[in-house]
Amino acid sequence: ERSEITYFGAGPAGLPTDVLETASEALINYKNTGLGLAEHSHRSELATNIINEAKADLASYLDIDESKYEILFMQAGGTGEFSAVVYNLVGAWVARKIAGLGDLKGEDLYAALREHIDGPKGKLVLDYIVTGSWSLKAYQEAVRLVGPEHVNLVVDAREHNNGKFGVIPDQKHWKLSDDAALVYYCANETVDGVEFPEFPTVLRKSHEKDGVHFPIVVADMSSNILSRREPVDEHSIIFFGAQKNLGTPGVAVAIVKKAFLPPTCSQPAPTIMRKVGLPVPPIMFQYQEMAKNNSLYNTLSVFDVFVAGQVLKKLLKTYPNKVDGQQAVAEKKAQLIYGALEAHPEVYKIVPDKTARSRMNICFRVTKNGDVDASEKAFLAAATKQGLTGLKGHRSVGGIRASNYNSISLEGAEKLAGFIGEFAKA
Ligand code: PMP
Repeated sequence: ERSEITYFGAGPAGLPTDVLETASEALINYKNTGLGLAEHSHRSELATNIINEAKADLASYLDIDESKYEILFMQAGGTGEFSAVVYNLVGAWVARKIAGLGDLKGEDLYAALREHIDGPKGKLVLDYIVTGSWSLKAYQEAVRLVGPEHVNLVVDAREHNNGKFGVIPDQKHWKLSDDAALVYYCANETVDGVEFPEFPTVLRKSHEKDGVHFPIVVADMSSNILSRREPVDEHSIIFFGAQKNLGTPGVAVAIVKKAFLPPTCSQPAPTIMRKVGLPVPPIMFQYQEMAKNNSLYNTLSVFDVFVAGQVLKKLLKTYPNKVDGQQAVAEKKAQLIYGALEAHPEVYKIVPDKTARSRMNICFRVTKNGDVDASEKAFLAAATKQGLTGLKGHRSVGGIRASNYNSISLEGAEKLAGFIGEFAKA
């Protein structure tokens, strides 16, 4: 029975049952049209309404200023955005250089640009802050697309924690570049259970030119979006896959500063990018094209947008003070679970450092009897018997991971905390 299970899987995550009930009706017969939402045209008025309402509700819930930011529904998941941010912000960087070069054309322009991209007049650099498996993947994708000579590893958290992820290194160790096309961080590392406790002070807006503010900060918020207030204004791009706190797998959201879109900024022509040896974005990843078409450049899964929209409507209804309300609950749930683990240090070892613990993905080892493997197997088996499922850690790191996303109720977190205590004593 669905009602007997509390599912702590890391993604896809559980969704509220009433949202899924509404969605299942919509899948069969949307608003008495005799057709389901996955059958209706993505070009229909009803599809456009669903997209626009979801955008407006997201903006309202997170306080996104829609005059400054464009909300886009993208495809290819969070991983697709690893590539998309590189393509788009490298393009924007080149566009800024072109604007500074006056009226040069053709070979003269390409030659002048190359001097800025690979010296002697400058260098294209992308900055990556690596604090876990997902920012590492994003960093590797940037290296794959533009080459290692253009990617700067600002900091690798493993070098500050005995070769393992689990800390956010002190900002004094970060090596930021001067004119980076982007500075990338992952707000919550789903596999490693590491979350930035707050927006890093060294990344705060330092100056602004033509609507672009520097540094140009990109954040992956796939696994903690909608769970706390974020300073959206400090970011140029925030992206996230839907399948944790927002909805069903199938769409990702990119919140993009309009200064990177026409008329303020246009992606350089593909010819220019080819001539200077930089990648041309696949059309599906080009934000300006997606923005121009209100995310409907091609067939979008409007059904997935609908589910996300229903989750947002429920959040807005539950919390009159919007994300602040959900944030208070998220913190309380995390404290309950961490508290239960800390009460039995002889049985449980929390993986990340206390200063960087994620409220969303609670990673720990069960060290009872010294035999970790056997203890964790016993823990998982006993938990499953009580309807607490999805607790197995990511295959790359092992251990236990309780994903404490928004759909986990306070009662669900209490149940897990209670079980953690009982198992330790048994
Ligand atoms: N970033 C983070 C923080 C994630 O947790 C995930 C998926 N678990 C991804 C990116 C990749 O998302 P997707 O599977 O949608 O490509």
